[in-house]
Parts: sequence; structure tokens; C-alpha cells
Amino acid sequence: AIILGIETSCDETAAAIVLRDSAGGATIASNVVRSQLDEHAAFGGVVPELAARAHVTFLDHIIAQACREAGISLADVDAIAATAGPGLIGGVLVGLTTAKALAAALDKPLIAVNHLEAHALTARLTDGVKFPYLMLLVSGGHSQFVLVRGVGDYERWGTTIDDALGEAFDKVAKLLSLGHPGGPAVEAIAKSGDARRFKFPRPLLREARLDFSFSGLKTAVRLQAEALAPLSDQDVADIAASFQAAVAEIVAVRAGQALARFKEQLPGHVPQLVVAGGVAANRTIAAALQEACARAGADLIVPPIALCTDNGAMVAWAGAERFALGATDQLDFIARPRWPLDLPDMKVTPDAA
Ligand code: ATP
Ligand code: MG
Ligand code: FE
Repeated sequence: AIILGIETSCDETAAAIVLRDSAGGATIASNVVRSQLDEHAAFGGVVPELAARAHVTFLDHIIAQACREAGISLADVDAIAATAGPGLIGGVLVGLTTAKALAAALDKPLIAVNHLEAHALTARLTDGVKFPYLMLLVSGGHSQFVLVRGVGDYERWGTTIDDALGEAFDKVAKLLSLGHPGGPAVEAIAKSGDARRFKFPRPLLREARLDFSFSGLKTAVRLQAEALAPLSDQDVADIAASFQAAVAEIVAVRAGQALARFKEQLPGHVPQLVVAGGVAANRTIAAALQEACARAGADLIVPPIALCTDNGAMVAWAGAERFALGATDQLDFIARPRWPLDLPDMKVTPDAA
């Protein structure tokens, strides 16, 4: 099947054409992403209203470009998939309403995609990973472990009780005046820093639960920065490196615990850890995860970073997986600002439409 995927839940306007053959093989025919970094740069973060307006301005062009690069016309598409939540509701509405209009005009099925499911299934698009596997989603809005048993069949094992990991990177970057988005900036400057100079806290780490907490760590970083002010370049680099070492350790320890639970609950399955979300780009965190997986005898799968951050191909692919199971949605599907993955209504029920 040929699927158009539309993503507008945050600050990227994205559309892609993905082909799925009957054996489950995937081809990304096009994947167009327009990031809104310039629109939001002056504000040090994403402004929801500006994001929604930019989606309105650019989405039609991005969809046309995705079709052009794939060498198809809209009439060739078998189904239209769009992120229907969770995310910034104004942006979600732009993408979902566009998808509904196309579905109605072209008389094609609509698939309302949960953005988290799109992240969760990406490793099947890029690496053909088989169920079950453990996903660690670490992005600007989420930090969670999810057991992925099948399409629509998820169990959340832990989440953040305050900030998301990407958000923690962004806030630390802001207080070190490194600009937005903070993750890449913190990682770059940390290269010249001493990761052992400051021993920042590892919140929750002694507790036997798979949750994260990053806000206390961020506060410790802020207090250290204030105590040293004015900061030299070396101070900034050392704080960034010490912060990054703390989060890498937290993530690796938790991953080890989550993999232990996987082995306990799913004996006979090779433990697999799939990483999703923009923070997967971080080399220090990836290396720490690699070590944790080696210790646990688990496989680590990190899709190419362009498919870890928000994009249309992952939405098209989630749509393709659902479409193959006969799961489509009605045109009156309501956009959801919040939409946890492990709700019963994520379950695939064929031919809802
Ligand atoms: P969500 O998908 O949860 O709605 P989002 O769109 O903000 O949120 P992504 O686009 O997947 O998430 O990722 C962006 C986040 O990843 C930002 O917080 C950014 O700082 C972080 N990030 C990107 N590169 C790196 C890096 N090299 N190191 C650490 N963090 C990074
Ligand atoms: Mg983003
Ligand atoms: Fe995302």
C-alpha cells in the first residue's frame, strides 16, 4: 500500500510517502520535513500559536513536495495518515483537518495516528524489528519506557514525573545561554568539558521504579551556575559535561532495570531496546545505552536520527501498519492534546470506518 503521512504536532511541518509491501517490507519514497526553528528562535522555545500558523502556511506545499519527490500524485495514495495527538492542539488540528479533507475529496481511508505509536513503530520501518521489544522514547515532550507487544498493544513501564529529558537539555542550555534547541548545543560544548568536576544528583535512581525525574537535577545545575557566576567558558563546558554524564548514567541504569524486567516477563524472547526521540542523537547517552545493553545481553536499535525526531515517514508507517490490519478511522475523529499509548482504544479494531 502507498501511504501519505502528515505530522504537525509540534514544530515540524512534515509529510512523507511510504510504501509497505504485503510481507511488511518498507520503502520511504519521500520524507519532507520543514522545521520551524527560525519562527521560534527569538522566544527560546516553541510558541504554540505561531507553530499552528506556520503549519497552515506550509503544509500544502510540503505535501505537494512529498508527492513530487516520490514521483506519485495524490490519487495514487491508498490511505492518508495524520498525527491526531498527543501534541500542541492547534498544530494537530491543522494536520488532521488537512488529512480529513484529502480523505473526503479523494475518497480514501483516514488513519488517525497516535504520535507516540509512530515513534514506537519507527524501528520496524528502519530496521524491520520484530515484536516484542522495549522502547525508550526520549524527546522534548516525553521520557518513557514502553513495552511494544504489537501494533496498538503497548504497556507503559515508566515515565517522567516532571520534565522530559529533551526539555531538561533545553532548560540547562537556556540557563547556560547556549540557545535553542539546547540538546545539540549542550552536547557540543560538553566535548571540551570535565564531566567529573561536578557531581550532580541522580534523582529517583535509588528507587526501584522505572520512572524519571529531571527537575531536581536541573535545579542543581542552576544553583551551581549561580554559585560560579560569572561563568568562564570552561565553567560552562564543565557544567554541561557533568550534567550530560548525570543523565547518561540515569538513563543507562534505568535501561538496565527495564531490560531485567523484560527478561523476567518475556522469557524466551531476545531482549531488544529501541530508542526514539531527538535525545537519541546524543552520543554520550547512546554509548551509555550501548553498554547497558551489552551488560544485559540485549540488542540496541537506534534508527537514523532524522527518523528519531519528528517526521512524516514515521506517521505514514504507523498508518501503513494499521491499514494492513484493516484499522481505519472515521472522518469525525477528534484531535487529542493528550493521548497515552496504553489506553484500550489504541487496540486495533478492524474496519471501524
Ligand atoms: P515530542 O516528540 O515529545 O512531542 P519534540 O518534538 O520536542 O517532542 P524531538 O523533535 O523528538 O521532540 O526532539 C527534540 C528534543 O531533542 C529537544 O529537546 C532537543 O534538545 C533534544 N535533542 C536533540 N539533539 C540532542 C542531542 N544531541 N543531545 C541531547 N538532546 C538532544
Ligand atoms: Mg520537534
Ligand atoms: Fe515526537
